[in-house]
This record gives sequence, structure tokens and C-alpha cells, in this order.
Amino acid sequence: MAELIDGGKIAHSIDAAVKKGIQEIYSAKGVRPKLVSIMVGQRGDAAIYVNMQKKAAEESGIEFDLRKFEPEVDPREIYEEIDRLNMDRSVTAIIVQKPLPENLSHDSVVARIRPEKDAEGIHPYNLGRILRKDADIVPCTPGAVMKILSEKNVDLYGKEVVIVGHSAIVGKPLSLMLLNEMATTTVCHLGTSQKGDLPGHTRRADILIVAVGRPEMVNGDWVAEGAVVIDIGINRVGNKIVGDVKFSEVEKKASLITPVPGGVGPVTVSILMRNVFRAYRGQNVKL
Ligand code: NDP
Repeated sequence: MAELIDGGKIAHSIDAAVKKGIQEIYSAKGVRPKLVSIMVGQRGDAAIYVNMQKKAAEESGIEFDLRKFEPEVDPREIYEEIDRLNMDRSVTAIIVQKPLPENLSHDSVVARIRPEKDAEGIHPYNLGRILRKDADIVPCTPGAVMKILSEKNVDLYGKEVVIVGHSAIVGKPLSLMLLNEMATTTVCHLGTSQKGDLPGHTRRADILIVAVGRPEMVNGDWVAEGAVVIDIGINRVGNKIVGDVKFSEVEKKASLITPVPGGVGPVTVSILMRNVFRAYRGQNVKL
């Protein structure tokens, strides 16, 4: 039976380090970090995520400011707001909540943020730095997975890592971060699945990471005995939240597994706060 990874515990240790780091800089410089969240309209679970971010920020000593816009807002207003926040020295980090209305491209809005204020680590400049293994501000979920693996002392060198899902903010950057640690990395996606090859890949994995958004897609038969399994998926099924992995089957084969909820999710929020801390440090401390 797999050992359960306690994401809450890992999150607490990140939060404590972030809080301490902020206090040290505040004592020396007398300025606080400030995260501004931009929300246009309010669809889906956006309000839940914003409240979670506000609570986490305030607990770490980060000022949190929500700027809300009507869904009919002229896109130029959003770009102008970002320009103002970029120039405002009291604002150290910016996050743009998803989803945005159809006439506003999330990629373009994020690209307008100054990279050093990019709380989510998804500005093209910060994503590009991963290629050179010198990223300071990293995309939150890939950062969370890397932190979980290092906290659990999972050796990546030469290991077969299979990621299912190749989105630009999860699967792709994560594959590069794993490659930077000398893992042998395979990335699967819809094409792999449609060709019928997906279980053939997942069964080879020493470390299997799933980020698809399909409830319990990966069953016990798809997983090798002793594999480390990281389930990123968050799916609402009725009034329950389930992952992309069929937990009851896979926990019998894996050596280590993240639960959903309580695995990657809490660590992701803490990595967001670590990014806000790193952005603040970058703007206040010459390293
Ligand atoms: P996207 O929808 O952007 O990406 C999903 C990926 O899964 C795509 O690469 C897609 O491939 C692939 N895919 C879809 N269907 C299949 C299939 N049948 N077989 C193989 N691959 C498939 O989602 P995200 O990456 O943003 O998120 C993925 C999941 O992780 C979601 O459940 C989301 O809620 C969750 N999530 C959790 C976070 C956390 O903190 N725990 C944070 C971020 C996301 P293609 O593009 O080729 O169709």
C-alpha cells in the first residue's frame, strides 16, 4: 500500500520559510510585498481561488488587493491597469484570475505584466528561463510537483518520468524542470491516447504525473508496482472532488501517492506565495 503524501504539511513548511524571508527583508528595508489580483467578471470557482489566495497571502505577511472589473470592460482598460501596476513601486506581484471573457486573451494580458512581477511564473520570459535552469519565479503547479518530489527524497536522476497532459502552464514546463534534473521524461497527450499508446507509456513510469482533467482516468492496471504517482487533476463529480487517478486501485500499487484533495493543491498555493516572496526579494535585495 502506498505512502500518502501530505500536501498540507509540505505547504506549511514553505509558508513558514516565506513568512520568515518576508520578515527579514521588511526589517531591513521597511517595505512590504503586495500582490494585486485582477479579476474580470466572476465565473466558475474564481471567487474560491481568490479567497484562498487572499488568506494565504495575509498569513504570510503579503498585502492582498483585489481589482474587479465588469465582464464588458474594454480590453484597453485592463492593459492600462497592468501598465499602472507595473510602474507602481508598492506593487510587487500581479496575478490575473482565470477565466477571462472571450475578447481578452489570458496569454496577452500575462505577457503585459513585467516579468519580475509575474506571480504565477507564466510570463513567456519566466517560462523561457526554465530552459536555462535559472528560473527564480516558476509556474506554480510544476513548482509544487518539484517541491513534493524533493521533500519526499525522490531521486530523479535517470528515472523514467511520464507526464500525462502537455498544457503550457503544467505539463510542458514541468517536463523541462524534470529534464533539468536529468530525468528521462516522456510527455503524453490526446494524440498518445488516441493512438492507443497511453497505458503502454504509463506502465513504464518510475514516476507518473497526471494533469489531464478527466476524473479517475488512470486505473490500477496502468501503473507499475512501486511507482511514485502524482495526481494534479481536480475534477468536481457531483459534490465530490476527485483526481485524474483512480485512487482506490492505484494506491495498492504505488509506493508514494498524492491524494486529491490534499496533495498537489495546497502546495501549489504555497508556491504562488513563494513566487510573490521571490518577486519582492528580486525588487528589494541585490543578490
Ligand atoms: P488543460 O485542459 O490545459 O490540459 C489538459 C491536458 O490533458 C492537455 O495537454 C490535453 O491534451 C491532455 N488530455 C486531454 N484528454 C486526454 C486524454 N484522453 N489522454 C491524454 N491526454 C489528454 O488543463 P491543465 O493542464 O490546466 O490542468 C489539468 C488538470 O489539473 C485539471 O484537472 C486542472 O483542474 C488541474 N489543475 C490542478 C492544479 C492544482 O493546483 N492541483 C493547478 C492547475 C491545474 P491536448 O491538448 O492534446 O488535448
